[in-house]
Amino acid sequence: MGSLNLYERFSRTFREHPSLSKFLVVFALSGGGVVAYSVANSENYDNVGNQKKKVVVLGTGWAGTSFLRNLKNPSYDVQVISPRNYFAFTPLLPSVTVGTVEARSVVEPIRNIVKKKKVNVDFCEAECYKIDAKKKKVYCRSTKKDKEEFVVDYDYLVVAMGARVNTFNTPGVEEHCLYLKEVEDAQKIRRKVIDCFEKASLPNVSDDERKRMLQFVVVGGGPTGVEFAAELHDFVSEDLVKLYPTVKDFVKISLLEATNHILNMFDKRITAFAEEKFHRDGIDLKTGSMVVNVSDKEISTKEIKTGKISTIPYGMAVWSTGIATRPVVLDFMKEIGQANRRVLATDEWLRVEGTNDIYALGDCATINQRKVMEDISAIFETADKDRSGTLTVKDFKDAVNDICDRYPQVQLYLKNKNMSSIVDLLKETKGDVVKEISVDEFKSALSQVDSQVKNFPATAQVAAQQGTYLADCFNRMDKCEKHPEGPIRFRESGRHRFRPFRYKHLGQFAPLGGEQTAAQLPGDWVSIGHSSQWLWYSVYASKQVSWRTRSLVVSDWMRRFIFGRDSSQI
Ligand code: FAD
Repeated sequence: MGSLNLYERFSRTFREHPSLSKFLVVFALSGGGVVAYSVANSENYDNVGNQKKKVVVLGTGWAGTSFLRNLKNPSYDVQVISPRNYFAFTPLLPSVTVGTVEARSVVEPIRNIVKKKKVNVDFCEAECYKIDAKKKKVYCRSTKKDKEEFVVDYDYLVVAMGARVNTFNTPGVEEHCLYLKEVEDAQKIRRKVIDCFEKASLPNVSDDERKRMLQFVVVGGGPTGVEFAAELHDFVSEDLVKLYPTVKDFVKISLLEATNHILNMFDKRITAFAEEKFHRDGIDLKTGSMVVNVSDKEISTKEIKTGKISTIPYGMAVWSTGIATRPVVLDFMKEIGQANRRVLATDEWLRVEGTNDIYALGDCATINQRKVMEDISAIFETADKDRSGTLTVKDFKDAVNDICDRYPQVQLYLKNKNMSSIVDLLKETKGDVVKEISVDEFKSALSQVDSQVKNFPATAQVAAQQGTYLADCFNRMDKCEKHPEGPIRFRESGRHRFRPFRYKHLGQFAPLGGEQTAAQLPGDWVSIGHSSQWLWYSVYASKQVSWRTRSLVVSDWMRRFIFGRDSSQI
């Protein structure tokens, strides 16, 4: 700095503090008089005159919207890019397929959601087709007819693009099946159901053809497939049988599931109740049955146990068997050295592994939880403050909070083993009286904890919590840079800036039709029946993103109670 001349010093100062140039212009124009000029009004600079960091958010689903709603720090310029200019409340999509709830009641324009924010947020209706992590650019294409392309720079990128439907490359699925992933899918299904009923009601249709047209097949016994089958059954039995009395006896709903049971991720009591209820309702449940081919009128299935192939003629087939990574994310993974993975991996702070300023959350990514055993020697060395080669109980207790913070599997392991503290774990290895512990004993005590590492489910709950967590980190970025609040860095020095993301499971629902819902709440508390249905109504009403959608959804439910569902084919 000492060797810089006056001009160079001036020019460097102006480059580092661009807002000063404005002050200079105002100063010159005012003839040197003192002019009050507020840089805080400037859109591109924060209130201390620094250029705002540009945050690009890809996606307006659960993760992206939750991030945007919770971002409060005005020192960012946010650019949102998504082919959808709205947020969709996906848990109500099965209700949209049959008109229990209208499509417009479950969506909220993203511009409405961000309009009152103090943070500057712009929206572009476009899809990102390439992420260049080296140049810090995203390449986008308009979703309109012209498909106009443009490039956006970022300082921080938040990838929240969700996932695509997984067809497992089953032949014919893309061409002939409907999906239930987006609002448009739900609208297509609604039209198709009515279309099948109207076609089957034409006078010149044979009974065999009528039977085929009114055979509805749902592939996938997860929560979405099960809920859709239940909604369809309610629609048919409560509304359509009255409107189409001549064809009602031809209607059949089948649910195909490759494993032995539906709702595998739920408690066994819920699975058993759901299977029993479907049998009672006349929904044809085919478990252990894998779809191998779909043609325009038939679905071929293979029985897993016997290998026997059979065919089911169908009028409408809905494919709901899970999700897979989007092609643009797969390309990005290749670029950053994650080509050997199936899902984009992040660290526990949601930062994409192999990058610095890119975060990924929701269905498009998974957290690669660091294993205790990978760091065990570093943990021991950090805890062993006096370098004695052994850990005293005090050493251990001093480090325990950081260990549990950094490696949540430790706490899960203790909980599963009914242990109150990590010292109990040492007792298990060393016997009742623990005074000191060697590195080998330490390794042996913690050797099993990594068995508790689990991936989070691809749910709205996880995506929304991740969005809130990341926004909170962005809100406190500068503060935590100066005063880190995360656990000790065992392999390096200092502390992590933030505490890692923690998922809090609030329970899950499986609506089963006939005003009955199964609820699995924290602490393995299971409730099934009409009371859970009311819990479902109140939770989903309260979780709406705006009062507008909340009132629309509640009035749709009331309309359905009073007048039934609308079967007009519009
Ligand atoms: P999404 O919500 O899918 O959002 C992805 C966003 O990225 C969208 O805005 C999309 O338009 C955008 N996007 C896509 N491609 C691009 C691109 N190239 N460039 C930019 N943007 C892009 N979870 C629950 O917890 N409870 C439930 O009851 C429940 N029910 C469900 C019912 C149905 C029918 C479905 C389909 C899902 C359900 N889920 C439920 C799962 C839940 O919806 C997902 O886990 C959640 O949507 C994931 O959020 P996300 O933000 O990661 O992705």
